Amino acid sequence: MEAVGEGTILPPGVELNGSAMIAPGLSCGVCAACLRGDDMLCRDYKVMGHACDGTAATQVMVPAANLLPIPGNWDFEQAAAFPLVFLTAWEMLVHKANLKPGETVLIWGGSSGVGSAAIQLVKFLGGHAIAVVGNQMKAVKCWELGAEHVIVRDIQDVAIKVKELTQKRGVDLVFEHTGAASWATSVASVARGGRIVTCGATTGREITLDLRSLFARQLTFLGSYMGRREHLWTLLGHIQRNPTNPPFRPVIDRVFNLADYPEAQRHLEAGQGFGKVVCRV
Ligand SMILES: [Zn+2]
Repeated sequence: MEAVGEGTILPPGVELNGSAMIAPGLSCGVCAACLRGDDMLCRDYKVMGHACDGTAATQVMVPAANLLPIPGNWDFEQAAAFPLVFLTAWEMLVHKANLKPGETVLIWGGSSGVGSAAIQLVKFLGGHAIAVVGNQMKAVKCWELGAEHVIVRDIQDVAIKVKELTQKRGVDLVFEHTGAASWATSVASVARGGRIVTCGATTGREITLDLRSLFARQLTFLGSYMGRREHLWTLLGHIQRNPTNPPFRPVIDRVFNLADYPEAQRHLEAGQGFGKVVCRV
């Protein structure tokens, strides 16, 4: 960190001329949602790099409240890859879906940034993760992260596989972010009284739904977007308890130089990687 505004109070563990991790959600700070800590419900909420400029730059300016110390001996790439996906997955699993120990979770896109975070968090929270991925190589990596079962997709077969793995019951929770292509299978894979939590629609945003499956099977659909900035400090606390062997860590697929940003974008779009793509400044 090169400079701070006059009179700025920095968060604990963050110092001028030191390094820091950035919480990517920006909010107004003065509305009712912000004041009660639900900054991601602020009407002015923006994710850096989405509805405003991001961090693909040699210098960026952020509010002091968006800074956190980098845990343990993590490098800049890990610090960059951590906040967005872990905050998203934590909010979905803990605060939206209220995951309980022993519950089974179907995680779409186990090789994605948010999927690889979810696998680790489900294990950390005492749940059982069933991950869905596109090929065998990705399946091995999901096992290494703590998934108990991995389904190499063929989307239609996923529900059948899930029923086999859960003695026909279905999963307690589906971790959705893939949208149109997987939604019907998610509904078919969830147990009666189960829930589906979603934070994305990468394969399309229009779905069809037989309402009978919602009410007769007593399902709950939960929408989620990022999470309280406060909870990044919660996650940091879990890491700092054992920084050399943390219970979860960001999975980095490839690191590009900032000058090769277009190439990094093309790599991301090709969808062949496992984990986050980072640009080094
Ligand atoms: Zn606000």
